[in-house]
Amino acid sequence: MKLPRAELDRSQRGIKVCKRCIIPETRPGITYDDEGICFPCRVAEHHSEVDWLARKKELQEISRWGREHSKCEYDCIVAVSGGKDSTRQALYARYELGLNPLLVSCTYPPQQQIDLGAYNVGNMISLGFDTIVVGPKPETWKKLMRNAFYRFGNWAKATEMALYAIPPRVATAYKIPLIFLGENNALNSGDLGGSLGGDANKIKDNNTLAGGKPTNLMDESILEKDVLWHQFPSDKDMADANVRIVYMGYYIEDFDPFANAKIALRHGLKVRNVPREDIGAYNLFEDLDEDFVHVNQLLKYFKLGFARVTDDACQAIRRGLMTREEGIELVKKYEGRCHQRYIENFCKYLEITEDEFWKVANSFRNKEIWEQLPDGEWKLHRQF
Ligand SMILES: [Zn+2]
Repeated sequence: MKLPRAELDRSQRGIKVCKRCIIPETRPGITYDDEGICFPCRVAEHHSEVDWLARKKELQEISRWGREHSKCEYDCIVAVSGGKDSTRQALYARYELGLNPLLVSCTYPPQQQIDLGAYNVGNMISLGFDTIVVGPKPETWKKLMRNAFYRFGNWAKATEMALYAIPPRVATAYKIPLIFLGENNALNSGDLGGSLGGDANKIKDNNTLAGGKPTNLMDESILEKDVLWHQFPSDKDMADANVRIVYMGYYIEDFDPFANAKIALRHGLKVRNVPREDIGAYNLFEDLDEDFVHVNQLLKYFKLGFARVTDDACQAIRRGLMTREEGIELVKKYEGRCHQRYIENFCKYLEITEDEFWKVANSFRNKEIWEQLPDGEWKLHRQF
């Protein structure tokens, strides 16, 4: 029987995914080869062929450079959230590289900060590190976040600006040129990030950081001086201070979410204790510092047709810790879930009604992949 045209179009809709993991083509920057395998899967395939000893020597060389060029007591800066990756980096800097790191952390306004996040940063400090915690002023923080939500359907764009700009700000102020970040997401997720190695100096040019200035999040009520901590130092200041930003994860053979979590847990990290259905996540050791992240994952699901469960499953599949089928099951079970209380808190914080939230959120749904059914419900077309 011949289907009507509209029916045909609908049945052909759908997001294509990698044949090995389950990363969909809607992930910005993702590429597939002729066999339908994504770039991060190919990187993972060659993981064991990497000369890890040579990379470690390179990291030691970078560390030596950092120590020699620092103009104060600290050899390097480690940007930390208190989570598994930053706990591992700080410990690695101290014990494996023999460095004296200064930890630099960004804190959130009280309505966003949660006890678990504060506990984990406290845990890192109690491991014996000196830490600078920067808390940008709440009023500007909220305005930028609100603008990011309305303009991009991604409130976290504003927060990420601060998270990435604060360490170079501290580096230029204290003349500590070496900054360590964690993973290079270009290799792990296919994000466009400039470098495919350990060099992170171009990170401000990636999609989210948009040149290192929050210009696209500003409005007439926000002055340039209000966004100091949301803005990278100028190229001249960065060059004068000789700032060098490095992905530590690139040099360490087992730097991955699972190994990092194991090590951090041994050193006091606390993870989430909530049902996975509530937060739309499988791994309970991710994104521990605040709860609005669950709302952002929901928005990402609307925009791209996938969210955190897919990302986490892909990492596990590439490491042989999960089969593709198991990943698909987890996606069906948890992807796009976000408990009502997180949405309520988010709306309360941004001072918007829930109706307004849903209006904005639904306006960002990618209509190529989402279909609104006659009863008003939305259906995602995603094929595995
Ligand atoms: Zn893949």
